[in-house]
Amino acid sequence: MKSAIWHPFTQHALSAAEIFVQRAEGAYLFCADGRAIVDAISSWWVITHGHGHPRIVQAIQEQVHQLEQVIFAGFTHGPAEQVATKLLKQAPQGLKHVFFSDTGSTAVEVAIKMAVGAWHNRGKPRHRIIAMEHAYHGDMFGAMSVGHRGVFNAPYGRMLFEVSFVPFPHAGSEQRTLDSLEALVRSDRDSFAAAVFEPLVLGAGGMLMYPPRVLAEIARICRHYGVWVILDEVMTGFGRTGSLFACEQAGVAPDLLCLSKGITGGFLPMGATLASDEFYDAFWSPDRAHTFFHSSSYTGNALACAAAAANLDVWNEEPVLARIAAISEYHAGALKRLAGRPEVAAVRQSGTISAVELNVSDPGYLAGLGPRLAAFYLEHNVLLRPLGNVVYVLPPYCAGPAELERIYGVIDESLALVGK
Ligand SMILES: *Cc1c(COP(=O)(O)O)cnc(C)c1O
Repeated sequence: MKSAIWHPFTQHALSAAEIFVQRAEGAYLFCADGRAIVDAISSWWVITHGHGHPRIVQAIQEQVHQLEQVIFAGFTHGPAEQVATKLLKQAPQGLKHVFFSDTGSTAVEVAIKMAVGAWHNRGKPRHRIIAMEHAYHGDMFGAMSVGHRGVFNAPYGRMLFEVSFVPFPHAGSEQRTLDSLEALVRSDRDSFAAAVFEPLVLGAGGMLMYPPRVLAEIARICRHYGVWVILDEVMTGFGRTGSLFACEQAGVAPDLLCLSKGITGGFLPMGATLASDEFYDAFWSPDRAHTFFHSSSYTGNALACAAAAANLDVWNEEPVLARIAAISEYHAGALKRLAGRPEVAAVRQSGTISAVELNVSDPGYLAGLGPRLAAFYLEHNVLLRPLGNVVYVLPPYCAGPAELERIYGVIDESLALVGK
């Protein structure tokens, strides 16, 4: 249906009319037609504690009367200082500085620019970047460049910068990934500026998962050869994989950490790139040409910062990890039951993220399967958006047994559609 608004990732020629949402609370979206839809994917992975968490609502309300926005060069404010202090206290060791931006993509762009710029300022320019097959880091040109090349970015392929991709460490072939990474960094020792990875879970790539020990090995190899490690925790950050940050599980502290999505609890757009002293120092100079020339208009927005500070307070004051553990446990039980079904090819889980890969042999059928399943789930008032033949659940942490039961109930029913 033709519409004035051009929606994201939407083929308007094929899609149904958009669902009008009036209000949301906890794990539910309340729609104009009277339906209550379970938000089983946290509104595209951003909502953490639940819609409308009162602590964050209140923080934004209080902040809006004080200061909504101010230029962030030469000025600072309370909420930004609070977020920085709280974030650095909880962040992996060695990260000492926060650079604010607006989205996940910009957090990644900033990290890449910091890495390449730092080598430049050191007088040893390096321009090559390593990334992982099936990666997703956002939809801007830099972020697209370090992401998997496919139908999503095909028209722009020739405009993307060259990146060296290492194979995804599928179970049983982890060594191949490590060997290929090592061969790469060894081949051309002084040319790689940084390597960028999603730790433990590749989200948009199909909720592909690899174990912490592989991440630890990847980081070790990069370090050994002097290649900076950028971890993109835009999706995995703020509890999704069972810990505040996924890299904690591997004992890895990156040189640059990219955050967004859950950083404000899902309330307002914000990106943050956390950096070690090495980067800050590489730009610290009496020479103005060594400035980090990057900004966006809303950098350090006071309302977004107030939401982020309140989000971190919720983490400190409420039993968030216990809620996460309860969801993880529920997932494990539900996946165990699904794993035996003939329609299911594989199941996987990392903390609050579960994924069910469906058995589909006919590629023609596969093409339309995701949207058909998504429509089926919505008819049953559950918001799930399969990635191809991968149905995943990524709920807000307020989701309890009642919501999870409904989610897995419709997934179970939807198996009847597979192969038809
Ligand atoms: C969503 C996502 C991004 C991009 O974030 P936006 O805010 O949509 O720009 C980057 N990296 C990962 C891992 C993501 O999941």
